[in-house]
Amino acid sequence: MPTLTPTRKSRLPDPAAGRVLHEMLSIPTAPFAEHRVIDYVENFCAKRKAATLTRDDVGNVLVRVQIGRRTIARPVCITAHLDHPGFVADRMTSTTTVRAFWRGGVPPEYFVGARVRFFVGESWVKGRIRSIKTVGRKPKRKVQTALIDVSRPVPRGAIGMWDFPDPRVRGNRIHARGCDDIAGAAAMLCAIDKLVRQKRACDAYFLFTRAEEVGFVGAIAACRLRTIPKRCVVVAMETSSERPNAKMGDGPILRVGDKASTFTPAATAHCNQIALDLATSDKTFTFQRKLMDGGTCESSAYCTLGYDATGICIALGNYHNVDAKRGKLGPEYVDLRDFHNVVKWFVELARSRRCYSGRNDALEARMRDSEKTYKQLLEASRAAPR
Ligand SMILES: [Zn+2]
Repeated sequence: MPTLTPTRKSRLPDPAAGRVLHEMLSIPTAPFAEHRVIDYVENFCAKRKAATLTRDDVGNVLVRVQIGRRTIARPVCITAHLDHPGFVADRMTSTTTVRAFWRGGVPPEYFVGARVRFFVGESWVKGRIRSIKTVGRKPKRKVQTALIDVSRPVPRGAIGMWDFPDPRVRGNRIHARGCDDIAGAAAMLCAIDKLVRQKRACDAYFLFTRAEEVGFVGAIAACRLRTIPKRCVVVAMETSSERPNAKMGDGPILRVGDKASTFTPAATAHCNQIALDLATSDKTFTFQRKLMDGGTCESSAYCTLGYDATGICIALGNYHNVDAKRGKLGPEYVDLRDFHNVVKWFVELARSRRCYSGRNDALEARMRDSEKTYKQLLEASRAAPR
């Protein structure tokens, strides 16, 4: 019987971070069924005293890392979601068929005949999709439930994911059943670990949200419940479909916006400035600044619901397991160098002496400089002869 054993090899310069990424990417998850990843996050933080973990009324997980007595007026809150498009078993309709709910955005044409694995205890049960039930019309037709032929009974509530192996490293890339957004959540844990180990003054929040794939309902609840303190500047971390002008391996990406909205300009400028500082002191750190309009992310929810918010992402291959080139499902993948650099960026965001002011300070300073330099010339040339 197959067992859940994460492999431990990694090309990351930081083996501890590589291990966390591998372990996280091995854990099954689906919208409204994030409990196994939450267990991992809880165990991880329980071992780190400076990290205080609380859960809100809908199960989102908030971790505060507070070291020293430094008070920060506008601390950063980095967020990532804990789910990935997947199945949750409903009931056996015969001894060899399970009916399962599907949640998340994958086109219906990829389902029938595709292989699935349901996670039961410490092992899994393999299955193949026989039929699907959809709602809506093209191009908005969505899968609601599926009948899946399975090799043995699957209990109600079991998580089902596409039948791909545990994480594998090939070159600079790691391939997994679902990097979106477990790689983001893993990067946050790695940053928490570094902050705790380095013992340098910081005060930062990390929010792990539920059920993003159905329309970021966990993040919306976190705003309504004020799970994130209102004074925070929110940075939502995502893996986002690679774009022609935002390639994987070229560094994590500061998102100025998504498909639905543009983010708080001052929050984006703050992250940009901290990345520029980091790039000056660490020559291996690279980053990009782009509009990632392939999808809508939680930053749009945070901005709309009253927070100063922006986004950071790492480019993702085979977004939502769709391998468009081959016309079939495949493992998602991200670049390990991007992952490593985003962890560094989070650490700097958490402990930088540069405080978020709610204004674009760097741009204002540059404008004041230009104004001062050219004020006289501008005035003196006003009436110059033609
Ligand atoms: Zn997604």
